[in-house]
Amino acid sequence: MRKKVARKEIKGISQQERLNKKLIQSIRKTSKEKDADFFIKKILAGDKIYLSRAITLIESSSQKHFELGQKIIKACLPYAEKSIRIGITGVPGVGKSTFIESLGKYYTRQGHKVAVLAVDPSSSLSKGSILGDKTRMEALSRDENAYIRPSPTGNTLGGVGRKTRETILLCEAAGFDRIIIETVGVGQSETIAHSMVDFFLLLKLAGAGDELQGIKKGIIEMADLIVINKAEGDNLHQAELAQKAFESALHFYPSKRNRWQPKVMLASAINHDGTDRIAKEIDNYIQLSKQQDFFEQKRKNQNQFWLFETINQRLKDNFYNKPDIKEKLPKLLAALSNKEITAFDAAEILLKAKDK
Ligand code: GDP
Repeated sequence: MRKKVARKEIKGISQQERLNKKLIQSIRKTSKEKDADFFIKKILAGDKIYLSRAITLIESSSQKHFELGQKIIKACLPYAEKSIRIGITGVPGVGKSTFIESLGKYYTRQGHKVAVLAVDPSSSLSKGSILGDKTRMEALSRDENAYIRPSPTGNTLGGVGRKTRETILLCEAAGFDRIIIETVGVGQSETIAHSMVDFFLLLKLAGAGDELQGIKKGIIEMADLIVINKAEGDNLHQAELAQKAFESALHFYPSKRNRWQPKVMLASAINHDGTDRIAKEIDNYIQLSKQQDFFEQKRKNQNQFWLFETINQRLKDNFYNKPDIKEKLPKLLAALSNKEITAFDAAEILLKAKDK
């Protein structure tokens, strides 16, 4: 009887010990996860799980997570910026994900590591994402040298922009040397994507001779390359006509500062046709940009753009969040529509609003 109790006690103690051990392990694990150095080590070793967790930190609205995320980014900075950043835009259905998968697989076959990120303001509203659907880029997502991350959600484009830029830095520190930024071109998303990449590619489809109709203003100026996708079979002739139409349209645009002449190329992403030629064209551009120091300069300009963008956004947020503004703005808007005040006077009153 005594023996039985003793055994039970021994069993009890060892059970308790086991529990304690587990608890300590989990505490150790969480404290490790709170430690920026631990994250940094893992990211620099190319660990995709910790890369994802760090990105989640910078996307988080919690102040604690945000601060830890910023610490990690700061430590990663010396290892970042060593990639080629490629922006890809086009309307839904044009073949972006098919094309990115083909280009991404081409790069990984060449020994590169590819990260695919997205700028998708519509996902911020719907809380969905253009890259959220797992069935997209299936082969690329299975590739151990590829990393696919859905678009961050955020209330403002500036917020989405900041998160995406910080994600780029983390991916670069994790050794990804080809960063592809996908955007559907809703709202200002193209401008946002364009202001964080080295090379900007516009994907198009052949229309019925109305290629230039409905094309968003400014998008042609942004493009370093236009690709007409689905150029195969019966569609090939139309695609060639579209190519000619875009080529002649490009003549009306001033040449780029680095004297790059954007081309119009054909592709059939589904058949992986054209991907290698396009990748070489991107390489040519990067080579030319580096020869002229344009590459570095462009990134410096982009960093400055984001500095001012962040300040402008913060000032605006602070301004509109003032209680005095919240109270006066609707009244002044009503007075403005009743023609009791001019826009200029209303703005003057608001600009003199109390800080608290
Ligand atoms: P996204 O919405 O721009 O990302 O477009 P997807 O990559 O999802 O492609 C939309 C549809 O077009 C899918 O059914 C693809 O299989 C198809 N598609 C993509 N590229 C090509 C292509 O080169 N040729 C043909 N025929 N279909 C394609």
